[in-house]
Amino acid sequence: MALLPLLQVRDLKKYYPIKKSPLSRTKVFAKAVDGISFDIFRGETFGLVGESGCGKTTAAKAILRLEKATAGSVIFDGIDIMQLDKAAMRQVRRELQVVFQDPYSSLNPRMTVEDIVAEPLIVHKAAKGKELAGKVAELLDIVGLSRNSGERYPHEFSGGQRQRIGLARALALQPKLIILDEPVSALDVSIQSQIINLLEDLQQQFKLTYLFIAHDLSVVNHISDRVAVMYLGKLAEIASGEELFSNPQHPYTQALLSSVPLPDPAAKREKIILPGNVPSPVNPPWGCRFHTRCPYKMDICTQKEPALNAVGDSHFVACHLTGSN
Ligand code: SF4
Repeated sequence: MALLPLLQVRDLKKYYPIKKSPLSRTKVFAKAVDGISFDIFRGETFGLVGESGCGKTTAAKAILRLEKATAGSVIFDGIDIMQLDKAAMRQVRRELQVVFQDPYSSLNPRMTVEDIVAEPLIVHKAAKGKELAGKVAELLDIVGLSRNSGERYPHEFSGGQRQRIGLARALALQPKLIILDEPVSALDVSIQSQIINLLEDLQQQFKLTYLFIAHDLSVVNHISDRVAVMYLGKLAEIASGEELFSNPQHPYTQALLSSVPLPDPAAKREKIILPGNVPSPVNPPWGCRFHTRCPYKMDICTQKEPALNAVGDSHFVACHLTGSN
């Protein structure tokens, strides 16, 4: 792994204003992402995991500037992309691509596969004529689709094949970073592993860097070099996949991990059932956001927010139990 980060996210926030009541003029804010910071190094896969609604997809949209961040900076390949005008951002988008969870809704049903894959090449004036047709055929080949699939429409393909089409489109402009937002969550388990294997092959072949977002820790661990665990708009823990699985420090990570099946079917692990539900991001708990569900809650947890501090080599935890301050 190279040492220079390709992506640096600093204190990223995304708040959504909402009215207190239909007649009220007073606005409150849903703090979907509330100050997250992390680096992604060139050539690595960085997993971002958490329950649905924890803010991980919102964070991805803010990084991509599909939604305007409330605060924070995103440095991509040395450039603060939050400061770029539309034209400059369009150039950056060549190198910063995204693949969404539901390939069906992200692929225009009225366009042929050929047109879908060709679109970014045309928009960015990267190819035309015979060269364009050749590039599209090559991209379909790379993701394991037959060259004659180009004349068909998305609904004629299975979920896994549609995700391959989305990948072909994302690869068209030779990106440096691809944000994969739950790319296999909608697929059968057998198809999931095919797509994960394809992602790993493509990463090697094209020296890609991935931000891999998922709610399933076992999927994230399989593909990620490092993993960040997110809870209610904040990061709870960051570590290498191996370290996170063998030595989880944050009580929330421990609970998430306790529901991941062990490779040995005879081995048993006690499942940690967390009480209650994830609180609303409109009114998150004071102090540690996890304190309403944490089995180890102390007085300080309701008063002071724990910082994300180092507890080991490249292992960071936001918990007063581990000495965060
Ligand atoms: Fe639990 Fe306190 Fe640690 Fe939060 S800071 S995870 S409430 S022990």
